[in-house]
Amino acid sequence: MRVVVLGSAVLDHRIWAADWPPASGRTRATAFVEDLGGPGAVAAAAIARLGGSALFIGPRGDDAAGMRVASFLQDHRVETRYMTVVPAAKTAVSSIVIVPGGERFIFAYPGEGLGDDPGWVPMGALDGADAVLVDSRFPRAARGLAAAARARGIPVVMDLDADTPEAWALARTATHVIADEELARRIGGAETLLTRVHADGAWGGVTLGAVGVVHRGGRVPAFEVAARDTTGAGDVFHGAFALALAEGQNPEESLVFASAAAARRCETGRVPDRPAVDRLLAAVKPGGKPT
Ligand code: ADP
Repeated sequence: MRVVVLGSAVLDHRIWAADWPPASGRTRATAFVEDLGGPGAVAAAAIARLGGSALFIGPRGDDAAGMRVASFLQDHRVETRYMTVVPAAKTAVSSIVIVPGGERFIFAYPGEGLGDDPGWVPMGALDGADAVLVDSRFPRAARGLAAAARARGIPVVMDLDADTPEAWALARTATHVIADEELARRIGGAETLLTRVHADGAWGGVTLGAVGVVHRGGRVPAFEVAARDTTGAGDVFHGAFALALAEGQNPEESLVFASAAAARRCETGRVPDRPAVDRLLAAVKPGGKPT
């Protein structure tokens, strides 16, 4: 199944701090990982690792970080031929500090000069597509893609994490909107958010970290795993959800599949493959312990 993703690609530097909060100006780090970040890019990597085919559309700068991001995507077998290299622009980079206990602090540099251009979406990008996934970072470009997908009857999943008029306009073009807890809190809670998404004509969900994910029909609890690194859990979740929909699963089944994929990500800090997710699904119901 083929999923077209338009969103952001970021170079992540993840550092595990030995002490928190810092007792002085210099704190020892116990581990370091350079990895692919950005909601769209990590979701695309997850789709490809989980057995789908993923086409990533989005910009990067013509710098070392941008080349690194593209090569991470290619290593995951994500198609990058439509990635736009913006001359003189700077690729987004995030420094993430993971502290004892697993909490993480993200310092996100959004890049510079990347723009937001509907012209990034080439003719033919949707050929053979079974689903589309967009995030809030490039709403103008994403709206063009989403509208074209809707015209062809292709489901459009949105990862909604910004409370801006542009992000909400994009959400109105989507068929399925999954928001995060922080955004829900900002606009009055998950119930308010789900009601608003529903009124706009889409199916909605809100992810709540280790608590799971809520939708209008109830809650899918998270799978219980020992979390090492929760960075990108939501990104893997959205990619897996879009792939499951593309495969013909209904939204609630897709939530369970996505929850298992995200739990594996939390456990290992890596983009999970299909056998690892299938093993978790076979061994345990969400919220329960492995048998
Ligand atoms: P984001 O990364 O966007 O903040 P969340 O933290 O809400 O997203 O996580 C998305 C999903 O990942 C959750 O709904 C849940 O299914 C899963 N998840 C997150 N944290 C954990 C955890 N500690 N253990 C198991 N699953 C988790």
